[in-house]
Amino acid sequence: MTDMDVTNDVARLFDRQLQEWKLAADNYAALSSVKVREYEVGDARIKLQFNPARIISSAAKVDAKSIKARRCFLCGDNRPAEQDGLPWGGEYMILVNPYPIFPRHLTVPNINHVPQRISGRMPDMMRLAEYLDGFVVFYNGPHCGASAPDHFHFQAGNKGFMTFDSDLECHGKKELVKAAEGAEMYLVEGLARRAFVINAASVESGADMFECLYRALPMKEGDEEPMLNILCWYTDGEWRIAVFPRVKHRPDCYFAEGEANILITPASVDMGGVFIAPLEKDFEKVTADDIKNIFDEVCISEVEARRIVDNIKWAKHHG
Ligand SMILES: [Zn+2]
Repeated sequence: MTDMDVTNDVARLFDRQLQEWKLAADNYAALSSVKVREYEVGDARIKLQFNPARIISSAAKVDAKSIKARRCFLCGDNRPAEQDGLPWGGEYMILVNPYPIFPRHLTVPNINHVPQRISGRMPDMMRLAEYLDGFVVFYNGPHCGASAPDHFHFQAGNKGFMTFDSDLECHGKKELVKAAEGAEMYLVEGLARRAFVINAASVESGADMFECLYRALPMKEGDEEPMLNILCWYTDGEWRIAVFPRVKHRPDCYFAEGEANILITPASVDMGGVFIAPLEKDFEKVTADDIKNIFDEVCISEVEARRIVDNIKWAKHHG
């Protein structure tokens, strides 16, 4: 990855931060020697990254009480003194993520302390993906991996690092769910986890199609939005949005005692095909079956997928 691949302002932000901010510099340096294993889970290629620095996110307490008791680390006043930002889009700040998974990993919080809710923000997500040349933009729902569910933020990491998009080209079984002018939506099966994928030629058509899917997703009582993770790519005038509806945040193995414990807490990057193990004991023992079981537990079943498809089709005919 050369600096030519990223927007120049972002490249300069990285250069500056890696010179001036020791924590970030150390964690990015450590990433270059991080261990990775590869698995075949059905037709999907899944990587497992042993990344000790991510314990801060994987072990994060995200219950309402813990969140209320801590100082929000995405609010401008509480951010580390060394952390510098690049204002974007009027209400966002592009920041270097000091606990990276990707060789270049950004966090893009709103400048205001507003809750993590995606509805109405898909146009922002798509424009950010267009702006951040060389990056995939992603969103973790408030109960699906966001370690700051009370402060709106996107993240972004290098294109080509996750495996989902290339697997989709080769093996994904795509079923057309809805077509409109400038956008199409598919249900994707056969890659160990179910996803809805939207291909769009404009921000408007992509965002409309996303809202149509969003309205059809099941929502748990007491939740503020359907459980989901989202990835968004922009390439040559086209957007691709992959939505992974979720039924569970942390799998049972996360809470299990003794040998059965696996400290993996899936979010967008795991859905994208890169699982993160902050503990070496998990990195050594996790099998392809464990990964399949985690996907089965936290992602929607075939029955749930069909119900969502029916909801979308019903809305199309009656809405
Ligand atoms: Zn905040």
